[in-house]
Amino acid sequence: MRKKSNQTTKTSTNQVKSRETLQLQMKKLRENMKKIDHKVAVISGKGGVGKSTVTVNLAMAFALHGYANSVGILDADITGPCIPKMLALKDRQIQSTSEGLYPVVGPLGIRVVSMGFLLPSDETPVIWRGPLKMSAIRQFLSDIAWGELKFLLIDLPPGTGDEPLSIMQLIPEMDGVVIVTIPSEVSQVVVKKAVTFSRKLKMPIFGIIENMSGFICPECGKKINIFKTGGGEKIAQELNTPFLGKIPIDPEICSDSDSGKPFIMNHPDSPSSKAFMEIVQKIETSLKKKAEVKR
Ligand code: ADP
Repeated sequence: MRKKSNQTTKTSTNQVKSRETLQLQMKKLRENMKKIDHKVAVISGKGGVGKSTVTVNLAMAFALHGYANSVGILDADITGPCIPKMLALKDRQIQSTSEGLYPVVGPLGIRVVSMGFLLPSDETPVIWRGPLKMSAIRQFLSDIAWGELKFLLIDLPPGTGDEPLSIMQLIPEMDGVVIVTIPSEVSQVVVKKAVTFSRKLKMPIFGIIENMSGFICPECGKKINIFKTGGGEKIAQELNTPFLGKIPIDPEICSDSDSGKPFIMNHPDSPSSKAFMEIVQKIETSLKKKAEVKR
């Protein structure tokens, strides 16, 4: 009998301790996030539409647009982290010093945090359940000294399920989301879910980006609409959501990503790079307008 009550006491003491640890961590998280002016999540209704590619290139575009050394990327895709590879940072590690943990610093001073930095190899799978993944994200946000940043882009796991939802709810004062899609009809159905998801969370939507929108044949110059074109724009109109722009299919985007060269820096004059720069300007304009309304 006594043994049982001792056990109960021990369990409740542990519960109190873990609640206190969580509260402390959330306090640190809020303080850390206060130093970041704008937090923008990049979401997609499904995987493979180029969400991470868009995140990396938007981050670089912000850096090129006057915010070098002031942009961060949180790769919140715990099971499929690919930002380190896309920025040629995969052999780097989160720096641990007596003063704390520091993000990996990439081109143009971009600060990156990803599960990919903690895995022994590319092939190591992360077989974690939801609570463990959330705990890792909480630590990324609270224990890492991101420092003062103008923009933090959060590459969310694909889909509109429990995981992206929990991560969005974890980050205080998120400015809004960017939705990435491809022009096919199947993706239009999925993008509706992403819009509904953001609206249910009362999350402002900066707009929809139509990625893989048409392909100009390098041999004959003819435009081929592999996944059709205009689907993202159409759905944006239908849902009364801003349309941010079209990123054409460009084989160099794929090869640059694979070799870890940020496409927008490697091919600054390409139509896709110009589209990324225009999108960044639209996001900035939208933030300025919101700030004016608040004043
Ligand atoms: P997601 O994050 O949505 O799963 P990724 O960003 O990993 O998608 O992109 C999937 C693949 O498509 C990658 O190989 C990437 O290089 C390629 N890709 C993405 N966008 C384009 C594009 N506009 N043109 C050519 N390849 C692209």
